[in-house]
Amino acid sequence: MKVALINTNTYTYPPTIPTGMEYLVAPLERAGVEVACLDLTFSHCPEKEAFNFVEENRPGVVCFSIRNIDTALFPGNEFLLEKPATIIRTIRESFGIPTIAGGSATLCAGTEIARYTGADLLIRGPGEIALPKLLKQIEQGIEPESPVDGWAHGIMPDIVHKRGKYIDYSFYLSRGHPAGVEFRKGCDWSCPFCVERLRPIFSRNARATVKEIESLASIGAKSIFFCDSELNIDINNTSVLLEMIKSEKFELEMSGYFRPVPMNLGLMKLLRESGFNKVTLSVNSWDLSTEGSPYTEKDVVRFIELAKEQGIRIAIDLLAGYPGEGADSVKKAIEILGNAKPDTVGINPYIRLYDRTPVVRDALNPALNKHGKIIGNLDQNPEILKPVFYLGIDISWLEEMIATDSTFVLEGSSKTVNYERI
Ligand code: SF4
Repeated sequence: MKVALINTNTYTYPPTIPTGMEYLVAPLERAGVEVACLDLTFSHCPEKEAFNFVEENRPGVVCFSIRNIDTALFPGNEFLLEKPATIIRTIRESFGIPTIAGGSATLCAGTEIARYTGADLLIRGPGEIALPKLLKQIEQGIEPESPVDGWAHGIMPDIVHKRGKYIDYSFYLSRGHPAGVEFRKGCDWSCPFCVERLRPIFSRNARATVKEIESLASIGAKSIFFCDSELNIDINNTSVLLEMIKSEKFELEMSGYFRPVPMNLGLMKLLRESGFNKVTLSVNSWDLSTEGSPYTEKDVVRFIELAKEQGIRIAIDLLAGYPGEGADSVKKAIEILGNAKPDTVGINPYIRLYDRTPVVRDALNPALNKHGKIIGNLDQNPEILKPVFYLGIDISWLEEMIATDSTFVLEGSSKTVNYERI
């Protein structure tokens, strides 16, 4: 069988190499599937390009990677599903072949993505094992169930993903954009707003990950961004990977997302020695004031100190204003970070509400939500596909709080992402 993989993401703030889609290539080829890839990131006419590609390649199935439902920020939110929907409907109506949608957008919604885009089938979560199985069913004429739970199937940890085989990286690399690499998928924490909460953790083989980085270096990548939910989910496995990267002496700059714990001097040193020159740390204002939080003020301050000691620049993503959180708690978080002096703090007071996350229940609870407001429509909006936000802070008060410290930036006020500012 021949399968077309099409990256439908054309949002370029910043342009993003379709790493997840590339991770499907080796598993499909191992299953004997012939693969053709199309990356529409920089396309001026994505529907036409997708049409021409399918006409030329004549695949038996077309798979579409969808990165985001929307930009997840407010103000200036952009709903991003219309373009993938137009592309998928064009292909489906023109060629009448089965269409499968997947990609990181499926963390946020399922059936509604399939309904909105018109895709015949949907895989939610990893497709490395789920997609070859689904294709086999199609080939055998078995009616597959949809959505398919990719998390129940997992990943192929030992496979070495040879990157850039079917995707032209020159547009990305010439503009200095990093190549994404994923060591682990999933997260064991339960942050109440997060679509990645309590996902099973799948770890790739460290040696296979290093080989993948080697293949990226060989095609001219200068920087690597780890796409893991949080790279320090555990110290031991992360250290094994970093030791291997260090011993390869790559001339690459590395970066990634982190949570405040676990972290210690040894791990931070290893990060520097393996090429990390900047990191992004995710912090929630209410966790700094609430008993029983997964981390404390001390953990956050220590993380920032360690990064600074090692000469690693640090951007903080600060989510603030949970339902029931008082202004004092937000003020405390701003003061803690102002004193710790990371390189930048992007404050996001607008929490994007996602289906089945506890924040939706809490935002609708009058006992908790006394002053906050819901922006957008939760009614007739199944799986909250259309963006809805919760705002728990007075924005003028917040602007005043951060006015004298240029370290703080209100997210949504520009199209840059936090790590691009350092
Ligand atoms: S630690 Fe990060 S990825 Fe995990 S649930 Fe919290 S915000 Fe989500």
